[in-house]
Amino acid sequence: MNLILLGPPGAGKGTQAKRLEGKHGIAQISTGDMLRAEVASGSEIGRQAKSIMESGALVPDALITEMLGKRIEAPDCANGFILDGFPRTLAQAKALDRMLAGKGRGLDRVIELKVDDAALVARIAGRFTCANCGAGYHDSFKRPKVEGVCDECGGTEFSRRADDRAETVTARLEAYHRQTAPLLPYYEAEGRLVSVDGMAGMDEVTRQIEAALAR
Ligand code: ADP
Ligand code: ADP
Ligand code: ZN
Repeated sequence: MNLILLGPPGAGKGTQAKRLEGKHGIAQISTGDMLRAEVASGSEIGRQAKSIMESGALVPDALITEMLGKRIEAPDCANGFILDGFPRTLAQAKALDRMLAGKGRGLDRVIELKVDDAALVARIAGRFTCANCGAGYHDSFKRPKVEGVCDECGGTEFSRRADDRAETVTARLEAYHRQTAPLLPYYEAEGRLVSVDGMAGMDEVTRQIEAALAR
């Protein structure tokens, strides 16, 4: 099963992708996580991407499409994958279609998480992750069960993203509306799009996604 999770920054793509990965045995591919790993390692890609990401703009299509193309060749994608944060432009969507067609594969569903901009700002402002395993948390909506200790791995170090500052969030939301929202009619026209109410609680969103996949 090959899925795309489409939605603005902070919509809950990463949260839901991790749940789908566990339940369906398919690989979560987060281009944002991949880019942050490149930046942290100081690679050539990381050097090119760092300042662009900090400004809230999108990294060039060619760079990201090449990175993604290699990633979906990996053995953990044999059963399928969930793309979280890719594609973000029409050029990326078309490149993905060509890539999959070349491998005799296709997309099963494109799941849109619909969330209002005001709620996104609150979600992004409170977001933090476990520095050890990457599990996602929120100051108000998902605190660790034991204060300061990761539910998943017991880690005690947490981190916040450099681009989750209020100044950058507006630029990221603008990039979404201008460059990524046009993907919705693209996938709708092909009958692959399913829209889910991303304003609901995390468990309700998961339920709606599973219901859509069962249809
Ligand atoms: P969020 O989960 O908040 O939507 P991501 O972690 O997916 O954010 O992405 C963080 C940043 O990484 C983006 O603002 C952008 O600069 C870059 N990025 C991630 N995926 C892509 C992509 N598919 N195309 C271009 N830039 C990307
Ligand atoms: P994205 O990957 O789309 O940028 P995340 O999955 O990182 O979004 O979620 C952004 C923040 O909002 C995280 O702190 C997460 O814990 C929280 N969150 C995710 N889904 C919900 C939800 N349905 N209701 C409230 N908060 C949520
Ligand atoms: Zn952890």
